[in-house]
This record gives sequence, C-alpha cells and structure tokens, in this order.
Amino acid sequence: MSDNKCCDGCKRPWRGKNAAGRVSRRLTLPLGPMLHDATWAKLADEDEKVLCAECTSQRAKERGVRLSLADLRPCQYNLFYWPNSWFNLFLGREPSPTIVDDEWMLTWLDSRGPWG
Ligand SMILES: [Zn+2]
Repeated sequence: MSDNKCCDGCKRPWRGKNAAGRVSRRLTLPLGPMLHDATWAKLADEDEKVLCAECTSQRAKERGVRLSLADLRPCQYNLFYWPNSWFNLFLGREPSPTIVDDEWMLTWLDSRGPWG
C-alpha cells in the first residue's frame, strides 16, 4: 500500500479527527478496492497510487469502466472487513446460477472460459 496520507484523487485524509479534535486511529475514508494493474491503469492517472472508494467509483463512472469481481486482485486486502469486504460486494453483483450440473458448467465455460 502507498504511504500517502490521503486519497490521490480527492486529497482527503484517510484518518479524520474525532470529537476531541485528535486524529482518529481508524480509517475514516474508506480505501477503494485493490484492482488488477490493467483495470487500475484505466481509472488512475499516472501519478496516482491510491484512491478512496468514492473516487474509484466516480472514475469508473466517468471513464465508462464497469468494475466486476474479475477486476479485483486476489489479495487479502479485498477480504478485509469480512463479510463487508470488497470481494463480497463484487461477488454479490455476479449473476448467480440457478442450476449447476456438469452440462450447465460446460455451457458456462464455453461462453466465458479461455477456450470459448
Ligand atoms: Zn478520493
């Protein structure tokens, strides 16, 4: 992770101040998901290393990038705050099969798999 103290997009700090005016120990601005390099390159500008959740979503919208489960890096970060993790959020957007048997699986693989 970048050692930046704020989002490279909106420049808001990761940690806000609590009621006593002290910098909170918790992240108050949620970080965006950890994305594969190819996806990241579509959303971030060259000098940007990390974006908050809001900026990630905004960039995707602006640049016509449809983020899906396949855009997430298979890393522990995307499992943080389970079950409210990035992984679960994107998994929930995937269409779920109603019938799963060998025939269905082969049809699915033919339509989406690497040898399709
Ligand atoms: Zn931001």
